[in-house]
Amino acid sequence: MKSDIQIAREAQKLPIAQVAGRLGLTEADFLPYGHDKAKIAHETIAALAGRPQGRLILVTAINPTPAGEGKTTTTVGLGDALNRIGKRATVCIREASLGPNFGMKGGAAGGGHAQVVPMEDMNLHFTGDFHAVTSAHNLLAAMIDNHIHWGNALRIDPRRVTWRRVMDMNDRVLRQVVVALGGPANGVPRECGFDITVASEVMAILCLASDLADLQARLGRIVIGQTFDRRPVTARDLGAEGAMTVLLRDALQPNLVQTLENNPAFVHGGPFANIAHGCNSVMATRTALALSDYVVTEAGFGADLGAEKFLNIKCRLAGLQPDAAVLVATVRALKMNGGVARADLGAENVAALRAGCANLGRHIENLRRFGLPVVVAINHFSGDTEAEIAALTDYCRAHGVQAVLCRHWAEGGRGAEDLARAVVELAEGGADFAPLYPDEMPLAEKIETICKRIYRAAEVEFLPHIVERLEEWQRAGHGHLPVCMAKTQYSFSADPAALGAPEGFAIPVREVRLSAGAGFVVAICGDIMTMPGLPREPSALRVGLDGDGHVQGLF
Ligand code: ADP
Ligand code: MG
Repeated sequence: MKSDIQIAREAQKLPIAQVAGRLGLTEADFLPYGHDKAKIAHETIAALAGRPQGRLILVTAINPTPAGEGKTTTTVGLGDALNRIGKRATVCIREASLGPNFGMKGGAAGGGHAQVVPMEDMNLHFTGDFHAVTSAHNLLAAMIDNHIHWGNALRIDPRRVTWRRVMDMNDRVLRQVVVALGGPANGVPRECGFDITVASEVMAILCLASDLADLQARLGRIVIGQTFDRRPVTARDLGAEGAMTVLLRDALQPNLVQTLENNPAFVHGGPFANIAHGCNSVMATRTALALSDYVVTEAGFGADLGAEKFLNIKCRLAGLQPDAAVLVATVRALKMNGGVARADLGAENVAALRAGCANLGRHIENLRRFGLPVVVAINHFSGDTEAEIAALTDYCRAHGVQAVLCRHWAEGGRGAEDLARAVVELAEGGADFAPLYPDEMPLAEKIETICKRIYRAAEVEFLPHIVERLEEWQRAGHGHLPVCMAKTQYSFSADPAALGAPEGFAIPVREVRLSAGAGFVVAICGDIMTMPGLPREPSALRVGLDGDGHVQGLF
């Protein structure tokens, strides 16, 4: 079997103008970035308003395990399969963070014969969007310290600045730093730190903004910290939002590339899936919906986090109406959820698979609570046995859900045609989507609703200062916001080792943060890393150019 990068490099790519042509776009509608990438122009997007919308399909998954599930791979495979059965389908996925490429191997463009290309570009600098986010974020940081330096008219308390700095690199030594050392000419010393760019609120804003004016309004609402008398200070108070919008103007335009089968793919935005909502941009999804019959998109992590945020945050804020959900499961991951150690995944184990299906069953129930029809996509791995696949199919049948075996990783879109037909049937049957909680519900109750109805927690533990903070935001007019849960992706509970379908646990809410610009309140339930480090042997050690100038060692 060839590696992902070998397959990607052998792709017979079309010039990007032809891919745009498949969406009905002409030269004036897009800005080419080289031969195989383009951005869709703001003017074109504005002119699409009011067009009939295609059907929106969410690809999500059971809880992730190191065995791998393949959401992106399935998103791309399903998009290609829908095109093969005669639907005009577009894929919408996230851009990749650059830093992690040099830590652990693995790209974000799908895998095998279900990938978007050019995959090296997409995983590295791409069209510069992340550089723009980094610059806009750090401009605000620079303006904060500059304001304090020149007399601090706003009376910002340097100890209570929560706006950090960002960089798109895994660099643990920058997590906590002291800035402005070296005397009065260098500013007022204070503690600060760096997050990775995808953790920036600017990234979440870029992905939720509906146009440039909305982008600017959201940037202005960012809360950067507090004054000495504990009043919030916003980016607008500092006058930063106009210049930040200028830096982000091009980045807000969705990026168009293609799949290995030359179908259009939007790859745009990449917010963290823990302290942010983990979905590609609203701009890309809306543009794709106006130009296609079907849009297939992915949400990060498992359905307990990814789908919940896609539905309660992105769809709510953007007014999107999803038509169906595809729940990706693998025999390997279900066996791990059923208690099998990673080293033993090669051996057939139907009993463990059946036990692990409890995890799948809970996600199916949850998606139905949102009024979405569900189909299970069994992402086939070469070691899966017939008995295991039969047991999984039986489990799904008993729970009233169709399970479709998919081989898009090995065969491309052809291997997912059955899934495509099942999705069309579900989507045409109509969904009855509604978010899980109304806007008016108090913030603490929203957190409780998610913990109890999605995770099935027995109780939620709020520290006293958290209740106070939520009430304070409620009084300040933020009570209508949805909540963004930051929790381990591996379990329904807050304990990453509790696989399957744990019960009777408590979810501890340790910290809450207000992302007033993005438009959500973050509830942190566990240790959340916002600046990763590199492993002892980073893959950067193996990355280089080969004799032909091709990147090697990355994927
Ligand atoms: P996710 O989006 O859920 O994180 P990806 O689609 O990015 O997962 O896939 C993760 C990795 O697993 C990729 O390297 C991909 O090539 C690999 N993978 C996905 N499906 C299969 C499969 N059916 N067989 C073998 N490897 C697969
Ligand atoms: Mg993915």
